[in-house]
Amino acid sequence: MWDAVVVGVGAMGSAALDHLARRGHRVLGLEQFTLAHALGSSHGGSRMIHQSYFEHPDYVPVLRRAYELWDDLDAWQRGHGGNGLFFRTGGVSFGPASSAIITGSLLAARDHGLPYSTLSLADARRRFPQFSPADTDTVFHDDTAGFVIPEETITAQVARAQEHGAEVWENTEVVSITPTAGGVTVDVSRDGRSTTVTARKAVVTAGAWTPRLLGQLNVPLTVERQLMYWLRPAVFEAEFRDGPVFIHDNGTGEHIYGFPWLEGEVPGVKVAAHHNGLPTSPDTLDRTVSPAEVAALRARLALISPALADAEFIDAKACMYTSTPDKNFVIGRDPRAGHENVVLACGFSGHGFKFAPAVGELLADLVESGSLSTGVPMFDPLRFPGVQVAAGR
Ligand SMILES: Cc1cc2nc3c(=O)[nH]c(=O)nc-3n(C[C@H](O)[C@H](O)[C@H](O)COP(=O)(O)OP(=O)(O)OC[C@H]3O[C@@H](n4cnc5c(N)ncnc54)[C@H](O)[C@@H]3O)c2cc1C
Repeated sequence: MWDAVVVGVGAMGSAALDHLARRGHRVLGLEQFTLAHALGSSHGGSRMIHQSYFEHPDYVPVLRRAYELWDDLDAWQRGHGGNGLFFRTGGVSFGPASSAIITGSLLAARDHGLPYSTLSLADARRRFPQFSPADTDTVFHDDTAGFVIPEETITAQVARAQEHGAEVWENTEVVSITPTAGGVTVDVSRDGRSTTVTARKAVVTAGAWTPRLLGQLNVPLTVERQLMYWLRPAVFEAEFRDGPVFIHDNGTGEHIYGFPWLEGEVPGVKVAAHHNGLPTSPDTLDRTVSPAEVAALRARLALISPALADAEFIDAKACMYTSTPDKNFVIGRDPRAGHENVVLACGFSGHGFKFAPAVGELLADLVESGSLSTGVPMFDPLRFPGVQVAAGR
């Protein structure tokens, strides 16, 4: 009997494993593929991180805690022979003054006293000649912004958990989770062989596969196809290498974002559009990227950075967002009667990675306390009417 079993060892599962193991729990992680794989939502070499959170200012306290935990994980990884996984580069956001990215970033920064500046267009064009804000744009600089490396994060969180006694089974698919009086019974297929695991608690962090495991809970989740592109600009190479992360809002809520030039698995500048992807599922995700999709991206980039619009195309990869209707996360105890020993975290809606170590901490708190919710109302599974019906409340 394990103290806890973690179902799905991606971003959030590896974080939960890390926190639970360091608190002294006997914990087992079950992952259907290999660790840090490229089939879910946590691959592609970089994830943006920033504190002036345009999505909602209430995320800022969680982000502040996440930054402490990122610094700690980064130091641990460097102390164990790594090259770091958390990099502060600063971040530039630009778009019309009324756009969500500008109004939301200013609101969060002012509400929480975060370090930021707004740049005059002349200043922005001088400091960041690789970008081309329009004459009507406002330019916001977030001093706290940067990026984290998803694959290194999962690897480090698992390694630190294992250092504290955790076990991880790769190539192990969880087929079902059955609550029992004293915990849970988990049926798995391990390297093709069926077996059963028992634990006092289950933490379900299955990303885009969550509906398959927790379907009857009725958390409204939509899986969306998202593309990442790597480009090699012929000009401003030094500026892109030493540059900030960036987000552009075209005034209709469409966001394109990108990273400095990184020498990762795919060297170059990574850019992506946020949301507006086609609905999909883990089984039907189309992983090929068409020339028409690359052309559409180039047209969009022409407004932001001609250097990127004309850059050499290197590669593109597909990934999945798992989104809730309000784009806020779902973190809490399974509210259904009899499911008191199941804790879940899902619906990260395309912006969850930067929170991963803090989500792991919240999940470990839920496992230990048995509470129904984290105390953060916007993460509460019970905010969705269908969930309350399913829970019989
Ligand atoms: C293209 C793209 C760009 C993004 N950019 C950013 C960004 O810049 N900043 C940011 O903060 N966030 C970003 N996100 C969002 C962020 O990456 C996700 O919110 C986060 O990775 C979700 O983590 P997760 O643990 O829920 O899912 P995953 O990391 O996918 O983990 C789920 C795991 O569960 C496993 N699993 C599922 N079912 C089973 C089963 N039955 N048995 C065993 N194992 C199972 C899966 O194999 C997987 O390993 C981006 C996402 C995408 C797709």
